[in-house]
Amino acid sequence: MNFKCPVCKKEWNSSLQVARHMFGTGDKPHKAWVDEQGKTQGFTFIDLMIEQATTPGNKSYVMLAEVIEKAQDKL
Ligand SMILES: [Zn+2]
Repeated sequence: MNFKCPVCKKEWNSSLQVARHMFGTGDKPHKAWVDEQGKTQGFTFIDLMIEQATTPGNKSYVMLAEVIEKAQDKL
């Protein structure tokens, strides 16, 4: 099964790759989407970037990947 980027609709075969793409792109629409999801869950794009840069592991990617997975039905 493929996972779509909720913003630009590009597809990858893992949600983690979509998360990586969202951080890597980081333009306004991608950033805005992450911030929108974070409103109910208490994070922002910047929070996740900082977390990713300052703590070991892939916590931010994994978390965003889960959010992306949940959003798939709505795409
Ligand atoms: Zn995208």
